[in-house]
Amino acid sequence: MRQSQLATKTLREAPKDEQSVNAILLTRAGFIDKLAAGVYSYLPLGLRVLRKIENIIREEMLAADGQEILMPVMHPRENWEQTGRWENFEALIKLKIAGEKDFALGPTHEEVVAPLAKKFVFSYKDLPAYLFQIQTKFRDEPRAKSGLLRTREFLMKDLYSFHASAQDLDNYYQKMTTVYFKIFERCGLRDKTYLTLASGGTFSQFSHEFQTVCEAGEDTIFICQNCKNLAINSEIKNATPACPACSGMEFAKAKTAEVGNIFKLGTKYSAPFDLKFKDRDGREKNVIMGCYGVGPTRLMGTIVEISHDDKGIIWPESVAPFKYHLLALGENAEIKKAADELYEKLTAQRVEPLYDDRELSAGEKFAEADLIGIPHRLVISEKTLKENSVEIKKRNKKEAKLIKISEL
Ligand code: ATP
Ligand code: MG
Repeated sequence: MRQSQLATKTLREAPKDEQSVNAILLTRAGFIDKLAAGVYSYLPLGLRVLRKIENIIREEMLAADGQEILMPVMHPRENWEQTGRWENFEALIKLKIAGEKDFALGPTHEEVVAPLAKKFVFSYKDLPAYLFQIQTKFRDEPRAKSGLLRTREFLMKDLYSFHASAQDLDNYYQKMTTVYFKIFERCGLRDKTYLTLASGGTFSQFSHEFQTVCEAGEDTIFICQNCKNLAINSEIKNATPACPACSGMEFAKAKTAEVGNIFKLGTKYSAPFDLKFKDRDGREKNVIMGCYGVGPTRLMGTIVEISHDDKGIIWPESVAPFKYHLLALGENAEIKKAADELYEKLTAQRVEPLYDDRELSAGEKFAEADLIGIPHRLVISEKTLKENSVEIKKRNKKEAKLIKISEL
């Protein structure tokens, strides 16, 4: 894409109403725009990143036998009354529609997916089943000050699994733990992300969170210093003095962002909706459920929190809006022609260049490239053309090198 055609512009100054690094950098670089506290638009560059994150998650869910659906955002009040959460889900945003009944804007979808599954699940032969969606969720978050880490309107991938036995749920839950780490690996967050025990609700003692160490995170976890494989959320630390994985007693405290959360729901949502199946012995039983959430928009903010410097964002290649940022420096026609040609070639080979074809100074182009954070910078200037070359530099490295245009 030619930068002269890009709808957005970068901002020199940090927006006055943002405190978090992710919101400041993403706004300045033209990835997002704030409409209200905790409510953002995703602009062309931002949406490219978000779609890449979503697609990583989608690929992993499909590989884990998930089937993608899209459930409604508007939920009738009755569904939420059936589980007692119309009154008890604190962040529920309720709507009054003139002449009609009450609705909620979905903050999560157990109240929709359980009655949905009831229409297809009758016998043990229909199980297990795995349904997921990637969709906008709404929560009335009281503290929406951390940019994309906590918003009132956000994307969530939520998968719901349906099982005939607790053993079958356990197996899938275990598998999902591995799948989640694959997602975080592909998003460049694996090294800083810990499997963390958190409160589990009714069916199991714990749920598992995926917590990524970052200063801006709102959670506190205790990482076992013996196995370094497991952490405990501060909310339950008093009840769990030793590491359940290795019995270690030494922990390091860290601030983290919860990027994912998986739960064994058991029959908590199947029972109120009478979601049952006939087992091999002909007896009716409640379906056993699990749910698995991950937040693409929170992931995007977390990636920026842990991958930036004082000049701007440093995108991991897997989620970068473009792989190459091509800069043409200098006004002369020869440079323009060489840069245009390279741009056309790269585009034809589908390597996704963003091409800075504008008439700006070298200093301005370099500063903007660093702010936007595309992984590879290619520069064509009078100096490089003398060598029939282009200068290539990684966003996270100091050294640049010349390579022949023909070799690129
Ligand atoms: P938190 O404790 O941070 O409020 P939660 O435990 O309520 O989150 P879940 O219901 O487990 O969140 O949601 C699954 C995932 O959705 C989270 O792991 C996170 O990635 C994302 N998510 C939840 N709430 C928000 C939010 N307000 N803004 C952005 N992403 C969110
Ligand atoms: Mg959670």
